[in-house]
Amino acid sequence: MVFKNPNPMCKEELFEGALAQMRKAYAYVDLTDNVKEVLEHTKEMLQANLLVRMDSGSLKVFPAIRVRYNDELGPTKGGIRFHPNVSVDEVKSLAFWMTMKCAVVNLPYGGGKGGVQVDPKRLSAREIESLARAYIKAFADFIGPDKDIPAPDVYTNATIMGWMMDEYNDITRKQNPAVITGKPLNLGGSKGRNVATSLGGYYIFKEACERLDLGKGITIAIQGFGNAGMHMAKLLANEGYRVVAVSDSKGAVYNPVGLDIAHLIEHKQKRRKEGEFSSISVCDNCREGDKKITNEELLELKVDVLIPAALENVITRKNADKIKAKLVIELANGPTATEADHILSKKGIVVVPDILANAGGVVVSYFEWVQNKAGFYWEEQKVFDRLRAKMTRAFEEVYLESEKHKIDLRTSAYVVALKRIMEAIEAKGRHPYD
Ligand code: GLU
Repeated sequence: MVFKNPNPMCKEELFEGALAQMRKAYAYVDLTDNVKEVLEHTKEMLQANLLVRMDSGSLKVFPAIRVRYNDELGPTKGGIRFHPNVSVDEVKSLAFWMTMKCAVVNLPYGGGKGGVQVDPKRLSAREIESLARAYIKAFADFIGPDKDIPAPDVYTNATIMGWMMDEYNDITRKQNPAVITGKPLNLGGSKGRNVATSLGGYYIFKEACERLDLGKGITIAIQGFGNAGMHMAKLLANEGYRVVAVSDSKGAVYNPVGLDIAHLIEHKQKRRKEGEFSSISVCDNCREGDKKITNEELLELKVDVLIPAALENVITRKNADKIKAKLVIELANGPTATEADHILSKKGIVVVPDILANAGGVVVSYFEWVQNKAGFYWEEQKVFDRLRAKMTRAFEEVYLESEKHKIDLRTSAYVVALKRIMEAIEAKGRHPYD
C-alpha cells in the first residue's frame, strides 16, 4: 500500500456510502443480479509512487492512483485530484460517481478517477509540472483517448492538463489531444470548459428554483472557492442573485446584504503565478459589513440555497439537522454523507445530487473530446447551448422519475443512471444461462 495518512473521514465508508446511495434505487429498477454484481465492483485500478526532483535537488515520493470503475457505456472518464487527503477509498468513490454521472446526462462514457496525495500549495510551478509528467509516465499504459480520459479535478487545472497531454504525446510519439480534457484553448481545449461545471450547475439551479418557486430575492451560500465555487459565485452575482457567504479551506466570509464577489475574486487571484496554487483566502480581506465565520457556520446559515462546492462529507449526521437552506445544489462530489440524506429529506430540504448538479464539467469535457476527434472547434455559444440542452434534459428526466415514484432526486438520478447502464450490459448479451 503506497498511501500514507489516509483521511480518517475517507476509509472504506465513503465507498460503502456511495454504494448505499445506489442500492436505494434498486427498488425502482428491475435490475438483474448480473448488473448489481458488475456495478458494485471496481473494474481495475493502478497505484504508483511518483518520484519528483524537488527544487532543493532532493527526490520526493508522492503516492498516486488511477481507478477505472466501470466502462459499460464507453471509455472511462474522470478527473485527477491533487490533494493531501487523497486515498484509495476516495478515488474509488469518485470513480463510481463519475460512472453514475456520465450515465445520468447520457454521455457515451464510463467512470474513472485519479489522484495524487500531495499538498500542491507547497509546490513550485516547476515541481507541479514534474509531478504532472511523472503521473503520465506512470499511467500512460492505463489511460488513452478510447480507454480512459482524465481531466481536471480539485487542485488541478488547464495548465496541468496541457503538461500531461504533452507528456503523453512524447511517450506515444504522436498527437493525441483527446487523451485528456480541460486543456488550455491553444492546446485543443474547448471554449467554455473552465466555467462548465458552474454553468451546468447554474442551469440546474434555475430549473430547481422554478420547481420550488424561488425567485430572484433569495439568499445563497457557497462552500468552496475553487474553479466550481468561484465561477458559480460570479455567475450568480452577475445574474443579480444575492450571494451572502463564500468560503475556502481557511474559512468563510458572510454578509447578509450580499458580498462583493468581483472584489473577492480579484483578491483571491492576487500574486498567483501560472501553474501555482494560491494560499490567499477569501476571508482575509473583509470589507465593511463582512463577517468572518467558519466553514461549519456557513453550512448552517439561514439561507435559501446552499451550494457545497468543495470536498466530500461536509453535510453529515452531525450537522444535517442544523441545515436551514430550502435547496441544496451539490456542486462538489459527495458533499452529503449518506446518513445525512434522510435527515435533510425529513426536513423537507430538496437536494439536487452531485451526479446531476455538477455534471456540466464532464459534459463539456465530452464536447472537447468530440472536437479533438473531429479536429473541428465550436464557438462558445454552441458549447453553452448544447450544455444547457443536456443539463435541462437530464434534470427533467430525473425530476419526472422522482415524481413517478415519490422519491428524492438523488435516488431518481440513480434510477435514470442504472437503467442506461443496465441496457448497455444487457445489449452486450452476457445473459445468465440458467
Ligand atoms: N472532475 C470533474 C468531475 O468530477 C470533471 C471530470 C471530467 O471532465 O472528466 O466531474
